[in-house]
Amino acid sequence: MERVHGGSDPHFMTETAIAGVLRQHLIDPEICIRCNTCEDTCPLKAISHDSRNYVVDVSVCNACNACISPCPTGAIDNWRDVPADRTYSLAEQFSWDDLPAPRELAAPGQTGLPATVEEPVLAASSTPGAAPFAAPVAAVVALSATVPPWSAAHPYTNLHGPADATVATVVGNHKLTDGPRESDTHHIMLDFGAMPFPVLEGQSLGILPPGQDAGGRKHHARQYSIASPRNGERPGYNNVSLTVKRVTLDHGGVPVTGVCSNYLCDLKVGDKVNVIGPFGTTFLMPNHPGSNILMICTGTGSAPMRAMTEYRRRLRDKVAGGKLMLFFGARTQQELPYFGPLMKLPRDFIDINLAFSRTPDAPKRYVQDLLRERATDVAALLQDANTAVYVCGLKSMETGVVEALQAILSGTGVTWDAWLAVARREGRVHFETY
Ligand code: FAD
Repeated sequence: MERVHGGSDPHFMTETAIAGVLRQHLIDPEICIRCNTCEDTCPLKAISHDSRNYVVDVSVCNACNACISPCPTGAIDNWRDVPADRTYSLAEQFSWDDLPAPRELAAPGQTGLPATVEEPVLAASSTPGAAPFAAPVAAVVALSATVPPWSAAHPYTNLHGPADATVATVVGNHKLTDGPRESDTHHIMLDFGAMPFPVLEGQSLGILPPGQDAGGRKHHARQYSIASPRNGERPGYNNVSLTVKRVTLDHGGVPVTGVCSNYLCDLKVGDKVNVIGPFGTTFLMPNHPGSNILMICTGTGSAPMRAMTEYRRRLRDKVAGGKLMLFFGARTQQELPYFGPLMKLPRDFIDINLAFSRTPDAPKRYVQDLLRERATDVAALLQDANTAVYVCGLKSMETGVVEALQAILSGTGVTWDAWLAVARREGRVHFETY
């Protein structure tokens, strides 16, 4: 019996099924940088996470491979042949520090394995006695393209992993904000010396914070967007900058001390940092003359927008770039990273729209409010095939932004679904929220 199963290795795409054996999709916890891309991408919601690991529910996964190419590290692309009645449970996967040794596959007829498999086993249950196929789960419409714009430069990825991290030296650490401690955000410059670390605007890197977690394991890497252009924060040097917000409250507002963000914000010039990456193959800027960039961000979501804007600024006299339009939200002006430098950019170079949600004695305004206010200009940009759209920042901004874009398009005769389908296919819409 032929069956198709997961795994991006073409040698494994089809094979004759072995009775009682199924290929289980797993995530390598050693390489995973917990970026949530797989969970966001999975159309069946088969992927979930706790504070330690990302895991795949074998009873839901149908090996569609949608999550494979968006994964920045390749941690997602792991497959194990396992006895169908002894798949790795979610509890087991949550407990792993690395992938376990392969499970022994007993010959059919031994250890109770069935001699034949009646149906293709793509999604067997890990729960004894449960139905072998999960009930269908509503598919989620993905927002982000899984390809870059056609004129994006070719990115390098995964040059360094946790086992061979490269070491960067801190050459600058400046506070960007002037608000309360919970909005403390830093511009951190890292120099790689003679070690090549080629990056493009929109890519990210991973930082390995020193020390161990409560369970005595090394801290896993945290991901940070690169805030500098491809030719360096300081042009011609092998360096990058990051925009890092100190996490002092968790998503529920409970006081915490975020491991990596506090480590980074407290670094001094001359300190050494373990870096992995670069990561990211899709959230990349278009480079062709006349290409427009519509940027929508909050907080540290400004990092990739700064990188793209600065690259375009450096090229301004050389390449006829298209329009740059920025929608940027923060609680107050004091908490908006890069407020001063942004204000110095010429108005005929970039169209800047700032939304503040906590300015005393002023109505709350969010990026989606500004998008609606500028509907005519945004609609014109959205309908231009030379426009790429980037959304980056807090996860909570997604719904409001999508609703605003839907409303803006509804006045044009183009439906959101039709626009999204084309923009995704052409690599012209990218969401990165965390
Ligand atoms: P942890 O020790 O991991 O977490 C402590 C607690 O705080 C946990 O309860 C956790 O759930 C909660 N928490 C984690 N992050 C936040 C948060 N942002 N707000 C509130 N509570 C939180 N961060 C940046 O500052 N700048 C960037 O440019 C940036 N780019 C990213 C790009 C991608 C693709 C992704 C996936 C994440 C990015 N992040 C960025 C977030 C970053 O990777 C870390 O998650 C963040 O710095 C918190 O790490 P931590 O070790 O300090 O907190």
